[in-house]
Amino acid sequence: MNQHERTAFFNFLETAVRQTDPEIAAALGNERRRENDGLELIASENFVSPAVLAAMGSVMTNKYAEGYPGKRYYGGCEFVDVAEELARSRATQLFGCDHVNVQPHSGAQANMSVYLATCQPGDTILGLDLAHGGHLTHGHPLNYSGKTFKVVPYLVRPDTETIDYEALRELARTHRPKLIVCGASAYPRIIDFERIAEIAHESGALVMADIAHIAGMVAVGMHPSPVPHCEFVTTTTHKTLRGPRGGMVMCRAEFAEALDKAVFPGVQGGPLMHVIAAKAVAFAEALTPPYRDYIAKVLENAKTLCGELQGLGWRMVSGGTDTHLMLINLGADGISGKKAEERLGRAGITVNKNTVPFDTRKPYIGSGVRIGTPAVTTRGMGPAEMKAIAGFIDRALRSEEEAAWAKVKTEVEALARAFPLYGQA
Ligand SMILES: *Cc1c(COP(=O)(O)O)cnc(C)c1O
Repeated sequence: MNQHERTAFFNFLETAVRQTDPEIAAALGNERRRENDGLELIASENFVSPAVLAAMGSVMTNKYAEGYPGKRYYGGCEFVDVAEELARSRATQLFGCDHVNVQPHSGAQANMSVYLATCQPGDTILGLDLAHGGHLTHGHPLNYSGKTFKVVPYLVRPDTETIDYEALRELARTHRPKLIVCGASAYPRIIDFERIAEIAHESGALVMADIAHIAGMVAVGMHPSPVPHCEFVTTTTHKTLRGPRGGMVMCRAEFAEALDKAVFPGVQGGPLMHVIAAKAVAFAEALTPPYRDYIAKVLENAKTLCGELQGLGWRMVSGGTDTHLMLINLGADGISGKKAEERLGRAGITVNKNTVPFDTRKPYIGSGVRIGTPAVTTRGMGPAEMKAIAGFIDRALRSEEEAAWAKVKTEVEALARAFPLYGQA
């Protein structure tokens, strides 16, 4: 679709909403304008294609399809079965897994399904601490994972700020966990899944690798895959994979039945068939050469942006990045992550505050900001734009005046408009 067709497509959708709900139609138009005109640097976000959007906004939302293709509890499932079979076979091709379940509504539910398939309440699990890059669902006390299991967090090393694999080995030997959870939300380096699996297996534990953030790199072979080493691999489909908001679980053949039972009826009821159709579309896109090129550019852009920011004096957690994301450590005596997020927001740049390893501030304040390149790369931006963006970030963070942020915002909008996204809102 060219920009003209995109404008017509979105105008049509918003007009359909406007006829019954002008307030939501206005919010949709404003959100499209915000996405078009801003710089989206939240590492977990991306922009889907019109094809993915259209599948999500399709009549498959109407269909109840509890069960799995060929074994449903409802009639009339012949066409949604086609969608789910395509999603499953494409995911299998993309990741080389034995079995996949594409029904989880989200990454959190994908993880919950694996816990249900493998653990009993009170069992011990190991997960990377949230402040060290892990995810809430990896055992945070406020999450069901932390409430249900005995959680032993592992950490990054203070010197390298990379996972302390040897300390993890000691924890596994001491605590004999049922499951070791690996994968992260705010970790800029390659994760050695093979090493973690070896640590788990020598202690008799199973391994779940959560590749929610890095699935795109894993799919095209630009990050080592956990699939050959780990019993379970979970992911979201909406981050670097650039599909609809949702989750998915891959596993070894021997766990297929237990996993499918855990997803349904264990954790969920009816699957979101429109979203599953959109997952199939996104996987088809991810199997093409342009997607591979896209991921290569995401990584190149992250390296460039990170290097430029370091050149401007910003300290990066772990000293750099191997992935699509980086974390600025603003320092205990610098501005907080919260303040940094606000300043960048005023300049039209969207990021999220984050804690950094061994942070002394509370999570809601934090001493870091997380920055990622998947979304800006989808727009077609490259190294030259990353250099410009580093300058915008630097100026916005160092300014204390509204006028200075507004000036950056004007330049941000000009840059964004040079890389049109969803047509004229
Ligand atoms: C984003 C993320 C999730 C959760 O996904 P939701 O779809 O928001 O539930 C789980 N694990 C990791 C590592 C993530 O980054």
